[in-house]
Amino acid sequence: MPDSQPQPSPSSSDPPSGPDEPGTLLLCGARLMDGRVVDVRLGAGRIEAVGTAGSLGTGRTTAPGAPVARVDLAGHLLLPAPAEPHAHGDTALSAEIDGPVPYDGQDVQRRFTEAALLQLGHGATALRSHVHVGDVQGLGALAAVLRARRALRGLVEVTAVAMPRLLTGVAGAEGLAMLRDAVKMGASVVGGCPDVDPDPAGYVEAVLDIASEHGCPVDLHTDADDPARLARLAAMAGGLRPGVTLGPCAGLARLPAPVASRAADQLAAAGVGVVALPQGGCGTVDGGGTAPVRLLRSAGVRVAAGSGALRDVSNPVGRGDPLEAAYLLASRDGVRAEDAYDAVSGAARAALGLPEVRVEAGFPAELLAVRGETLTGVLSLAYTRIVVHRGRVVARTSAVREFCGSATEVALDLPRQGRGKPFPGA
Ligand SMILES: [Zn+2]
Repeated sequence: MPDSQPQPSPSSSDPPSGPDEPGTLLLCGARLMDGRVVDVRLGAGRIEAVGTAGSLGTGRTTAPGAPVARVDLAGHLLLPAPAEPHAHGDTALSAEIDGPVPYDGQDVQRRFTEAALLQLGHGATALRSHVHVGDVQGLGALAAVLRARRALRGLVEVTAVAMPRLLTGVAGAEGLAMLRDAVKMGASVVGGCPDVDPDPAGYVEAVLDIASEHGCPVDLHTDADDPARLARLAAMAGGLRPGVTLGPCAGLARLPAPVASRAADQLAAAGVGVVALPQGGCGTVDGGGTAPVRLLRSAGVRVAAGSGALRDVSNPVGRGDPLEAAYLLASRDGVRAEDAYDAVSGAARAALGLPEVRVEAGFPAELLAVRGETLTGVLSLAYTRIVVHRGRVVARTSAVREFCGSATEVALDLPRQGRGKPFPGA
């Protein structure tokens, strides 16, 4: 018997998709975080049913002669897919370019697309990228990102945050005009870095005004090392309904504990979320370190974790890997593995305004299968991954590890992959 059947939910308005309809996919023999081994049937972009292994049939053909729409996930842990809440796709993969980052449209589109696919391969099926607007690049980088977004549709869901430099005084007039144009063009989030404007409060006010005019969420950069400024920002941001997110907020970790704790309470009271960047900063604010995730969580702040710079000059070795962000939260910051994974999946989706994903009937089919049996094992070693977006397998990464032939692993019955024969030349 299936353990779980579609529940009344927003999903029930979607047309139902039975096992014989095109687009149905059966994920077989996957292990869930609670230890159960199950089959999961996907259709119309949603999870249709979850049942004990073998209970949902053996898969089927989509058309005569077509391959069976069935994926064997034996040996894999099946998780809600991660989302990337803080990327910088317009500067990604530019670390090895001599001179300033080229903002030629084609170059931005190519680097952005390559970075998004790399992050998709890691498991992120939704991605929010900050994009510079104004100054030399004008709206060119944003236009290139929006082109990339269209081309990536069906593989990964992309949203762009317009990030102007200055918004106050004479110099800010152009930034304001550019920001309004950026939102009209298709940037669905308003952002930037108030700390670099001569009038940070004025900058925040301008961003909030434009966001509420257009019904957009706000996603601002701050190091959060000035408690008075942060308190003002929280007080101003509390009223914006589509939501306000701050990141990377590493400066909070450098404040005395009682001061940081009071700031966390103010953010929680205002409903402001924080995106931490455990894999390194993003160059926009450069205080170093990571936001105090446990302190923020215990104050009731919604905390997600993103990857920040992906091989641009501020982090030439950036990986853009959500599982590594979760690993760092667990390994270095003492966050429980389940909470660390939630920071890059459930909380990250919430920061992006996306609906919740659980491996249960009725929820969006946004999934990541990783070779392994437990979440801690997967955060320790996650080489082999299968990524599902809108009910379809959109990325696979495979790794096979081989050891030079030895009797040791056979004698001890150790798990292994590959052959057990000597390597040539060994
Ligand atoms: Zn950033």
